[in-house]
Amino acid sequence: MTHAKQKSDAVGEFDLIERFFSHIGQTLSNDVMLGIGDDAALVSCGHDSIVLTVDTLVSGVHFYPDDPPDSIAHKALMVNLSDLSAMGAVPFAFLLSITLPESNETWLAAFSKALNTAALRAQVSLIGGDTTHGPLSVSITALGRVKRDQALKRSSAKLGDNIYITGELGLAAFYVYAREHQLDPGERATQAYRFPNPPIQLGHQLCGLAHAAIDVSDGLLADLSHILTASHVGARLTRESIPTASEWTILPSDDAFRRAVTSGDDYVLCFTAPKSAAASIDAVLIGEICEGEGIQIDGKCWTGNVGYDHFAST
Ligand code: ADP
Ligand code: MG
Repeated sequence: MTHAKQKSDAVGEFDLIERFFSHIGQTLSNDVMLGIGDDAALVSCGHDSIVLTVDTLVSGVHFYPDDPPDSIAHKALMVNLSDLSAMGAVPFAFLLSITLPESNETWLAAFSKALNTAALRAQVSLIGGDTTHGPLSVSITALGRVKRDQALKRSSAKLGDNIYITGELGLAAFYVYAREHQLDPGERATQAYRFPNPPIQLGHQLCGLAHAAIDVSDGLLADLSHILTASHVGARLTRESIPTASEWTILPSDDAFRRAVTSGDDYVLCFTAPKSAAASIDAVLIGEICEGEGIQIDGKCWTGNVGYDHFAST
């Protein structure tokens, strides 16, 4: 996700995780129902699973150094709740690890107030964390709960499933584009970038209806690709059905579409569900799961970049 892409000829973000982290201690505990590779991990707890996820926001990467503290607080919590929703979980608590360049009371008061507002809205309590001195970064570990066999895993998409998303794409990415090109991003894009509002209750409501889900944080095509790879299936999408932010109409339509579906920071859910559930689902139908691999849009295989990678070469 987001704007300060690293130039590197080294291994990409997901290969890096796979090669250096994915094997560590994976076989040790019977209580771990699902480890690395989904939006969150699942740990067995009676008839439920506790769902755990951590996401870090780094100044200059996930937000601009001049972004207001209330935005940073809101976003740090919401991006984590978005991952819990993508597992079908109901959130209940979180831990905050914050690194601060200085102890600035005005900044902290605004940060704390916004974090409290977001936490109350989501019905989650701050139960611990860590505070250190250094370049500004905010890391939140969020905890949720889901019935043990109802989690929405990336690996559960089935042939013939419909594919849905819960909102329009590319609005936050337009904010970044506008800032980089000295354009006015406008109120809508600014709000989407600074105060993302993922559907934090929807994931849970989809339990029993949907098969697989992921939250769109790195671009629709990148995140949908994770479902496809984990489920060993392909996807057919219809371009016309994919809602993209109207702000992008300043660019030629192919470029606008490409940016909207590959840029990230959308924090909508992308999920698959059997056609039999269609009448119960209130989301945008964008395609279906098919045999094979990869993504076809209007019958053509998508061969370009799919989304954001922190370590991809530019
Ligand atoms: P998301 O975008 O849903 O937050 P990521 O793309 O950040 O997920 O990570 C993909 C998967 O890799 C997740 O299951 C995450 O928990 C895991 N992961 C990422 N970084 C690490 C790491 N340093 N050590 C262990 N697991 C990691
Ligand atoms: Mg995610």
